[in-house]
Amino acid sequence: MYYNQDTIIYYKGEFVKAANARANLYDQSLHYGYGVFEGLRSYDIDGKAVLFKPEAHFERMAYSCNAVGIPYPFDNEELIQKTYEVLTLNNLKDAYVRPLVSCGPNMQLTKGKSSDLLIAAWEWGAYLGNTLLHVQTSAFQRPNPAAFVVDAKVTGHYVNSILACQVAKDNGYDEALLLDINNYVAEGPGANFFMEKEGKLFTPPCGSILPGITRKTVIEICKESGISVSEKHFTIDEVYESDGAFFCGTAAEVAGIASLDKKFFKKPWEETLGFQIQKKYKSLVTEKARVSEFA
Ligand code: PMP
Repeated sequence: MYYNQDTIIYYKGEFVKAANARANLYDQSLHYGYGVFEGLRSYDIDGKAVLFKPEAHFERMAYSCNAVGIPYPFDNEELIQKTYEVLTLNNLKDAYVRPLVSCGPNMQLTKGKSSDLLIAAWEWGAYLGNTLLHVQTSAFQRPNPAAFVVDAKVTGHYVNSILACQVAKDNGYDEALLLDINNYVAEGPGANFFMEKEGKLFTPPCGSILPGITRKTVIEICKESGISVSEKHFTIDEVYESDGAFFCGTAAEVAGIASLDKKFFKKPWEETLGFQIQKKYKSLVTEKARVSEFA
């Protein structure tokens, strides 16, 4: 479902058919979860594919690689161009783009010796849907920040996300909410978290989270709209007592939450700050003025 016989990817410096591309079974990334990836959205604006904040995503990819010792011999401006070519070759407009840097064969527990870059893309609607989410607090905590570089988007970190998400789904919920090692609220398996209390927004600070590009955009939207937002630690009990909450991420966009652990938020979603921000985010990503940015 991510590709068919005609799908073209950019892999190891060439545009090739995904069905014919070959990864090496001895790759360090496959064995040890030692790779780095990104997730970008492209939006159809007046019939053109327009990426949202591609520079920020590729900068984070370079940062993540450097943070864990994966060679990054790539030029980000060129990668943005290659991404647009992948979209064009596959006739994609509303799409999700997945760049991945993987390391070649190395069975030693030492840093990457060589790296390969993949850029794949596929059609993408809303990730968590537009309906409100029922969320369960996960028994899986976010990884200890002293054990991983948690603000790097490293493939192996996502085992933690898979464990948390699957348990929540098995229990009949839509999504999980993970705490950090001190039992403060951290984030979702693939999205950041905000809560609303007495007309103000709160989001966990950096430390145990992946500091999302969407989280930063939401904070900017708040500043422009005069909405008070602070980055501070809070507990799950404080969330139970709050007025509303949402997840945000490139794929999730701004996704409202109806309940946490079967406790419903006080305000109807349409009356929350999250709802206002959701609308502003949607118009920002599809803003016509952005067509000229990369055209
Ligand atoms: N946290 C995690 C663990 C994620 O995987 C993501 C998705 N990349 C996010 C937060 C949101 O990040 P962004 O807004 O940059 O997509």
